Amino acid sequence: MKILAIESSCDETAAAVVEDGTRVLSSIVASQVDVHHVYGGVVPELASRKHIEAIVPVVQEAIEAAGIDRSEIDAVAVTQGPGLVGALLVGFSYAKAYAWGLGIPCVGVNHLEGHMSSIFLGDNPLEFPYVALLVSGGHTSLYYVTGPTDYELMGQTRDDAVGEAYDKVSKMLGLGYPGGVVIDRLAQKGDPKAIAFPRPYLDKKAFDFSFSGLKSAVGRHLKDHPEPDETRLHDIAASFQESVAVVLCHKLTYAAQVKKCRHIAVVGGVAANSRVRAMVAEVAKKRNLSFHTPELKYCGDNAAMIGAIGYHRLREGKTLKVNDDTYSRAKLPSNTKHK
Ligand code: ATP
Ligand code: MG
Ligand code: FE
Repeated sequence: MKILAIESSCDETAAAVVEDGTRVLSSIVASQVDVHHVYGGVVPELASRKHIEAIVPVVQEAIEAAGIDRSEIDAVAVTQGPGLVGALLVGFSYAKAYAWGLGIPCVGVNHLEGHMSSIFLGDNPLEFPYVALLVSGGHTSLYYVTGPTDYELMGQTRDDAVGEAYDKVSKMLGLGYPGGVVIDRLAQKGDPKAIAFPRPYLDKKAFDFSFSGLKSAVGRHLKDHPEPDETRLHDIAASFQESVAVVLCHKLTYAAQVKKCRHIAVVGGVAANSRVRAMVAEVAKKRNLSFHTPELKYCGDNAAMIGAIGYHRLREGKTLKVNDDTYSRAKLPSNTKHK
């Protein structure tokens, strides 16, 4: 089954063609980073306007790159929420109209479930059950996953998401938006032991996170040692990143231990982080856990992941009605169990 997938929840206009929820025939991502960079964050109104400009060519490109004809598309999957409503509406309305025009079903999916399903793209078989760490711009959550759409929320951040902390620290350091990639790059040249930033575990045996204190500690350090030179900047980035990686790695592997689970996964924009990937891989090897993470291109926002979850939701018959709307908040998937 070939699904045309569309994503427009934030500042990426993306379209993809995905076969049977795993095989990516094409994945096109048009980023608006250059538009928002000067403002130090995403400007919702500008995001919507840019989606309007990009949606038609991006979808067209995805279909061409897949080497298929429009008539071969079996269904359309689209992000319904959470995200910026004005941005979501562009992809959502377009997807519904596209599907109805072709007389095929349209399924609305949760963006976070998309990130969770990115793990199944390509040749990356993963067995259930597993523990997944979702780390993105707006979320930091641990899930125990027992099936393609069965998640149990084990813990989540009480304040900032990891990606958000990266972006805020980047802003403090004068490195602009988005911050993850820049800090990751600078950190590779720094000493992770240079500054003893806090490692916010809250309770070491619980699965909730907190990153606002770590972010503030970087702010305080900058106040006490203003205008860092290049070496210092690298050390700050490396030390901050080390604290993040140590905490994420501990919570994820501890959760696997508690659940007596051999498989672990890291998904979402921050899953692209080089230190997080390396540290989790190392600890997993020591503890004989199998560690899965998407290819870098499927960590940040993309439409292929929407096609992956869309496939499962479609099989469950969850198609959209003509008057269905988007949602802005992190409405958790229907079968998510809370702990
Ligand atoms: P959500 O998915 O929670 O709604 P989002 O869609 O904005 O939020 P993603 O696109 O999944 O988030 O991820 C973007 C975040 O990932 C940004 O905060 C960005 O700084 C961060 N990020 C990207 N690459 C890296 C990296 N290499 N290291 C750390 N953080 C990174
Ligand atoms: Mg983005
Ligand atoms: Fe995202």
